[in-house]
Amino acid sequence: MSGDRDLDGLDPATLATHLGRHPERHLGAVNTPVYRASTILFPTMAALEAASLGQAPEPTYGLHGMPTVTDLQAAVAALEGGHAALAVPSGLTATTLPLLALAKPGDHVLVVDSVYGPTRRFCDVHLKRFGVDVTYYDPWSGAGIAALIRPTTTLVFTESPGSLTFEVQDIPAVAAAAHARGAKVILDNTWATPLGFRSFEHGVDVSVHAATKYLGGHSDVLLGLVVANESAYPALHRLWTDMGLTASADDCFLALRGLRTLPTRLARHQASALEVADWLSRRAEVREVLYPALPGARGHALWQRDFRLATGLFGIVLNPVPRERVAAMLDGMRLFGMGWSWGGFESLIIPTWPERVRTATAWDPGGPVLRLHIGLEEPRDLIDDLAAGLARLAA
Ligand SMILES: *Cc1c(COP(=O)(O)O)cnc(C)c1O
Repeated sequence: MSGDRDLDGLDPATLATHLGRHPERHLGAVNTPVYRASTILFPTMAALEAASLGQAPEPTYGLHGMPTVTDLQAAVAALEGGHAALAVPSGLTATTLPLLALAKPGDHVLVVDSVYGPTRRFCDVHLKRFGVDVTYYDPWSGAGIAALIRPTTTLVFTESPGSLTFEVQDIPAVAAAAHARGAKVILDNTWATPLGFRSFEHGVDVSVHAATKYLGGHSDVLLGLVVANESAYPALHRLWTDMGLTASADDCFLALRGLRTLPTRLARHQASALEVADWLSRRAEVREVLYPALPGARGHALWQRDFRLATGLFGIVLNPVPRERVAAMLDGMRLFGMGWSWGGFESLIIPTWPERVRTATAWDPGGPVLRLHIGLEEPRDLIDDLAAGLARLAA
């Protein structure tokens, strides 16, 4: 995992600097280089025969993970406190791989109603096609989820906070209810990252990340990570191997590079997001701020209890206003870009329509909803941009 060095008992920020690096194996280079390799050559027939029997210690086939891939996997697993991790080509692959690996025909799966949209579509189209029954549940249900668990329920899919609506789930209560009935818990932990929420200490069996977001951190990588405990890992590794789902070495290199600055970037994202969210919460145009880290926001107590930090993504509900006014606001932004994939260094703002997909719960916040990603710009500049935008909104 961390080579010959003893990294026990260190702060996560220190670990993010040191995990997954082995200069002694790479001519002293600080970073694990990009290993581009499909073919692995063997010196003798005996060595090739041993590899064919699974008896070789080194990688024997490029697809099964060269050091750039395995160092990232080991670093993220250690950082989050999981048994092992798998790198996959996208965040969406990370959310769907455990569903496919752990559910079988006849099973019942519970999925949170605030789940990332494409994960939901995978459940509705593909899990159902494979004979898996899917029920959506209220993100606020906590221990109440026990009432929905059937004898056939094998998985509970969670995501906290929801990436459009920001409900915080009581993950320990959900996990206790699921485990009492023999079901496993998957968490989409993209918002909090391995630094913000220690999944395995809260009862999660499989934690998944769109590393595309904060781990990459520069809006130029598509990558997913699946981190699992010891009991869930073998089935995930089996499917990862059998479907050939490994990530590219170049993308893993960029994620390892992103990991080194993750604690520093997240501290800035959180501080700036809190400043901007607090400012927005005082504006007459804003009905509600959906940011669990903000005192007084929904879910704040749960966030405070379970999370180590917040990141830069949150929502706001505007007071009722015609669509044209929202368009006037968004079309004229100077710094905030409009785009869906967040977690980079730059700020974003988009309208969202959570009510279009919900089935278990109604989403009726009383006005248009915007989602903001607060990047690494100076927050005063972002606030000036938003102030001008709100003036266009109210004009
Ligand atoms: C973006 C995102 C994903 C998917 O990540 P991609 O790399 O874009 O496929 C999954 N879950 C959440 C919560 C996300 O925000």
